[in-house]
Amino acid sequence: MKEKAININNIGSLYFSKKERSMEKQIQYPYLPEGKQFLYVEARNVFMTAAKMYAEEFSLDKVMPGTAVVVKDRKILGIGANGSDYHKTHSCRRVELGCKSGEGYDLCEGCHPKNHSETTAINDAVKKGYNPRGADLYLWGHFWCCKPCWDAMIKAGIRNVYLMEGSERLFNKEHPDNIVGKQFEKTARRRL
Ligand SMILES: [Zn+2]
Ligand SMILES: [Zn+2]
Repeated sequence: MKEKAININNIGSLYFSKKERSMEKQIQYPYLPEGKQFLYVEARNVFMTAAKMYAEEFSLDKVMPGTAVVVKDRKILGIGANGSDYHKTHSCRRVELGCKSGEGYDLCEGCHPKNHSETTAINDAVKKGYNPRGADLYLWGHFWCCKPCWDAMIKAGIRNVYLMEGSERLFNKEHPDNIVGKQFEKTARRRL
């Protein structure tokens, strides 16, 4: 009897480890720090909705508009859209150098992480006198965060990072179902 019980436990642990592995494989993030993960909320989540509305109005990145919202105790402490008007008057140094997505952001004034929504939202909270430590960050418009942004979030003590469900398809240029270029169109909304 004892042996049987041990076997059952083994099957259980095998099952769970397999499941965890497949979950990891489901979404390939270009970057994710060791021990970190993304959590997901529906598109209609109030903070995700706020982020999308803000992005539509304020993002200066017309291809991949994004907004991050820093939330603690259901209160928005900071909000920030991505992009800069630098590219309107300057060519992109990263494009010139052929940088890959996620690489060389510090090489271009326009692409610099200080213009990414995660960093902008954290800085906005701090500027308003809030401590973002223990707050959550909701990110609309992207399906992963670059290393400088993760570093900033970890340093600021952000607890959980939430993305919109389906982000890895909708905001991924490589995915056939992406809505890049029509994020705010009604047809795109229906697919969310
Ligand atoms: Zn650039
Ligand atoms: Zn970033």
